[in-house]
Amino acid sequence: MIIGVPKEIKNNENRVAVTPAGINEFKRQGHTVYVQKQAGIGSGFSDEAYTAAGAEILPTIEAVYAQSEMIIKVKEPIESEYPLIKEGQLIFTYFHFASSRALTMAMIERKAICLAYETVERADRSLPLLIPMSEVAGRMAVQEGAKYLEKPMGGCGILLGGVAGVKPANVLVLGGGIVGTQAAKMAAGLGAHVTIVDISLARLRHLEEVMPANVDTIISNEYNIKELIKDSHLIIGGVLIPGAKAPSLITRDMLKLMRPGTVLVDVAIDQGGCFETSHATTHADPTYVIDEVVHYCVANMPGAVPYTSTLALTNSSLPYALQLANKGWRRACQENAELKKGLNMIHGQVVFKGVAEAWNLQY
Ligand code: NAD
Repeated sequence: MIIGVPKEIKNNENRVAVTPAGINEFKRQGHTVYVQKQAGIGSGFSDEAYTAAGAEILPTIEAVYAQSEMIIKVKEPIESEYPLIKEGQLIFTYFHFASSRALTMAMIERKAICLAYETVERADRSLPLLIPMSEVAGRMAVQEGAKYLEKPMGGCGILLGGVAGVKPANVLVLGGGIVGTQAAKMAAGLGAHVTIVDISLARLRHLEEVMPANVDTIISNEYNIKELIKDSHLIIGGVLIPGAKAPSLITRDMLKLMRPGTVLVDVAIDQGGCFETSHATTHADPTYVIDEVVHYCVANMPGAVPYTSTLALTNSSLPYALQLANKGWRRACQENAELKKGLNMIHGQVVFKGVAEAWNLQY
């Protein structure tokens, strides 16, 4: 198959969909890969590294789209890319159709085959192409939280791990899923005292087994959260109710119970956030303060660490992309139920219920 890897053009998107290691695999399995000039530079991969792995570098995005049967990307196509997409071309990327009618209508019009990363789903209902980004965001939450706990950054001035003779910080993690587990692990590794709350006892039992001794688990309810926030220095929000807005576990009133300089990192901000006072921020201006409580609510946290994020994403996406290249989308989806769940559109026909429902389209 002929595969194209365009350079991402969405504002501040430095990830790339295939690394030189991925090119090497495509080549070994008999495929041709065109990579747009400088596509990997934001993630630390030079054109020379791609060429050495067997890719051909093309000078423009137009050339990449025009010559490829399958386009592999990271972010959804933006308006300037719509006209480049050819009828029957396979596009494998994050789409998030339910959040953009314009994108949905454009892809219907282009009659492309749209396979969305975010709906590829395993039998246990886990989402293998979203997990790596939650892992990155969970780990980053502690790094960012530690930074904003510093006095010059607006925090209360406590070192997460303390030192000999001085207590460490208390870190509260709301939600013990992928984000919460990774955050707890990082905070515990730095020596903080960590508490994870979740509504799932099964989840808490598992965490109790695998977490180090400086991590406690407590069932999530309003009473417990109110008690815990009084003595927390860093609070990380990582709750998810699939398909719904995140619950506001910390209300505006509850900010008054916290000590001045407490830092909130709302990772769940892409689902509306789990603190009532959260609103989305950017890497350029990541924080704001309400009632002396610092809020960090960046909606695309993994974007700040494109090297790690690219490798984490491609570790998960490459095996699927290879199946699509080796078998073609039709047979690959027939033989792999996980990939089939990723199919959102076929030649302009919406085949994913959630997308059809979001925009009142025929399904
Ligand atoms: P997950 O499904 O693995 O974990 C969510 C956890 O929340 C589950 O264990 C669930 O039981 C728990 N939960 C639900 N309701 C709760 C409640 N009332 N109290 C306590 N716990 C509760 O999800 P995840 O992959 O960890 O993702 C968490 C959030 O982070 C999602 O909204 C995801 O979209 C978001 N995210 C954001 C970024 C970013 O850059 N900001 C990046 C990746 C993921």
